[in-house]
Amino acid sequence: MKKENVRPFLDEIKNEMPNVTVLERMEDRLVYAHGCYPLEYKWLLQGPYPFLPSAILMPNNTKEISSIMKLSQKYEVGIIPFGGGSGIVGGSIAENEEVMIDVKRLRDFEINPINCTAKGGAGLTGADFENMLNEQGYTCGQYPQSFQSAVIGGMVSTRAIGTFSTKYGKMDDMIHTLEVVLPNGHIYNSHTTPKASTGPELDQLFLGAEGVYGIVTAAEIKIYPVAEKRYFESYTFKDTETALSAIRKFIQNNVRPAVIRLYDEEEAIPRIEKFNYEKGHVILIVGYEGLAKQVDLERELVKEYCEAHGGVNKGTEAGEDWFHARFSTKKMLDHDAMRGGTADAIEVAAPWDCIVNVWREMRKALEPICSGIDCHFSHVYHAGASVYVIFHAETGGDDIEGALRYKQCLDVAITTSLKYGGNVSHHHGSGKAKAKYLVGEHGETGMEVMQAIKDALDPQGLLNKGVLGL
Ligand SMILES: Cc1cc2nc3c(=O)[nH]c(=O)nc-3n(C[C@H](O)[C@H](O)[C@H](O)COP(=O)(O)OP(=O)(O)OC[C@H]3O[C@@H](n4cnc5c(N)ncnc54)[C@H](O)[C@@H]3O)c2cc1C
Repeated sequence: MKKENVRPFLDEIKNEMPNVTVLERMEDRLVYAHGCYPLEYKWLLQGPYPFLPSAILMPNNTKEISSIMKLSQKYEVGIIPFGGGSGIVGGSIAENEEVMIDVKRLRDFEINPINCTAKGGAGLTGADFENMLNEQGYTCGQYPQSFQSAVIGGMVSTRAIGTFSTKYGKMDDMIHTLEVVLPNGHIYNSHTTPKASTGPELDQLFLGAEGVYGIVTAAEIKIYPVAEKRYFESYTFKDTETALSAIRKFIQNNVRPAVIRLYDEEEAIPRIEKFNYEKGHVILIVGYEGLAKQVDLERELVKEYCEAHGGVNKGTEAGEDWFHARFSTKKMLDHDAMRGGTADAIEVAAPWDCIVNVWREMRKALEPICSGIDCHFSHVYHAGASVYVIFHAETGGDDIEGALRYKQCLDVAITTSLKYGGNVSHHHGSGKAKAKYLVGEHGETGMEVMQAIKDALDPQGLLNKGVLGL
């Protein structure tokens, strides 16, 4: 990154691309300086913000992004793509005063009713895209908690996931084709066939790459007719282990309701109290949607597996209650805003044969340094599931102590997950916050491969430097 070249780089953009908005005021730079990484909250409270981008560019289309990338190579100026800013792993920290490219003006939208896909520009939020689909009788089934702010480019780049993932899949399962601008400005477009035996699947290179290999400008996403029927219900079980066994059994028999959320003994407490269920038990919320007959059949099958494991059907109230409050993160945000306080949702994945250990040991390791820990399992697969560990901590000290406690909690959570067979991240990505742990998941050889691809695509290391440890 040649900081001294930022000025002539921006001047050439202003001269050659008058439709690209260039933001350089301090207020704009501060707004873009932070996403939702908990340490960024602490930095905001600690005084002058430590990492500001030099400027923010707002292009209108893929061609303009391509031209900007060519110029960034000419001037050796570092670039950070910016979507909704809801990333929580520090993927857009401008450590070297990089220039940001905000993709939010890329808002193309087109449905292909024959293939049942819809192309969305990288700047459409999850809510924009879903609302546009709903107006024409379709859904894509992607409802992350950050639905209102995360945009398509950001969700593709982090392999994001929504709460209805068991039926509709993760963002990475939903993609039919991608358009990506490479660091040298070349534009990659994937072919539209649904399957190919023509070499590695290149889209996979950009899914979850967090912008290190290119800037995602559009994605064609699988869509479905809006469900005829949606139904929520819940079961209580005597403990987490038994409930996990019931879930594993029906999933491995290919019974796939849309929503599965199992709250462990601690996180279940407020709901157990609210609905007066059996004290000390855990709660499984199951949501179904699709054709009415399919929903009824899935309910019957899930019931058989749950009851075979001692599960007790509790009707619709706990599931409906979750659905209405599903976008709230107030408790975590209150802790982040607190002097000396901190909180985060650490989400890892583990295969079924070690998931109980990963959950139990992460909880145990965090308990001495946290004031509260909530754990749930909300994305399940044939061979394993995600483990969500939400910690809240208060130091009683200042923002610097809060920041130190955050780093300690993050380290304890991830090293424990890796030690017991889990991974570093299930869907939030690694950004700069978790980058140093990736070698524990991919090994030295895996990191060498990732770096070799980076060196080939971006030999000057200008795009999202430091993210994923590259
Ligand atoms: C309250 C809250 C709830 C959340 N709930 C969920 C959830 O349910 N599921 C989930 O998966 N995540 C969740 N997240 C995390 C976050 O919303 C996701 O990581 C999301 O995918 C980030 O998208 P964004 O558009 O905000 O990306 P940004 O924060 O703008 O960027 C994230 C990373 O991607 C890069 N990037 C952005 N746009 C592009 C692009 N077009 N091309 C290449 N790289 C790009 C950035 O440089 C950065 O490294 C939540 C976050 C918050 C704050």
